[in-house]
Amino acid sequence: MKIDLVTIFPGILDGPFRESMIKRAVEQNLVDINLVDLRLYTEDRHRQVDDNPYGGGYGMIMKPEPIFKAVEDLKSRSEDLPTKVILLAPQGRSFNQQIACELAEEKHLIMICGRYEGIDERVRTALVDDEISIGDYVLTGGELAAAVVVDSVVRLLPGVLAEEASTEESFTEPLLEYPHYTRPRVFKEMEVPPVLVSGNHGEIARWRREKSLEITFRRRPELLKKVNLSPEDRDYLEKIKKQQS
Ligand code: SAM
Repeated sequence: MKIDLVTIFPGILDGPFRESMIKRAVEQNLVDINLVDLRLYTEDRHRQVDDNPYGGGYGMIMKPEPIFKAVEDLKSRSEDLPTKVILLAPQGRSFNQQIACELAEEKHLIMICGRYEGIDERVRTALVDDEISIGDYVLTGGELAAAVVVDSVVRLLPGVLAEEASTEESFTEPLLEYPHYTRPRVFKEMEVPPVLVSGNHGEIARWRREKSLEITFRRRPELLKKVNLSPEDRDYLEKIKKQQS
């Protein structure tokens, strides 16, 4: 997969991809991540990427010309790859694990990081294939949002994680993950649940499933509507509901 990140602050994005798993994925050529300085696509002396809003009002708006030029250039450099152009925007669809899985199937992503008051609307209507928001709050720019999206997508690419690691975690099914423990077995008088040291894999799997159901029920009950529940799962949830009432 190739990912081009279009930004006026490439330095912000430098750090997240130079450490740990994403760094290894880049070194192993599992993903190619390019930081693209939008100012290189300007033609004036000041390398201006923003201008005043038509109609007046507060703040500056990112001009369309450099963004169109950048995206057209990046597409032409990867003509053999189908490309998806994504704008990071508070108005976009809410990012989640399902969208991360969708994006992990793509071959070439171009992500546009907005700044200032936002972006000329013609970028949105004529250049962008998808808009993604990482939550209902406003960041100063799209760089941190892009880093979140790239991190969650890259770890899903084949070879980046051990296969089980990404199939067993939160949201793979719409369930939150069960609790984890490691050594020591007793810490400050808190003991690891005995089932986890029993060596009985069937019982361990059932305990984990039940804890997942319970945590999801208590913290994000709306997710349970989307889960394929077995008769055992339903019995367990009934039991919890009764305990609660
Ligand atoms: N005036 C805009 C509004 O009210 O929607 C906010 C602009 S924000 C200060 C500047 C840029 O940060 C946006 O163009 C977008 O690229 C990015 N951004 C801000 N919040 C975001 C979020 N929750 N998700 C994704 N991108 C975001």
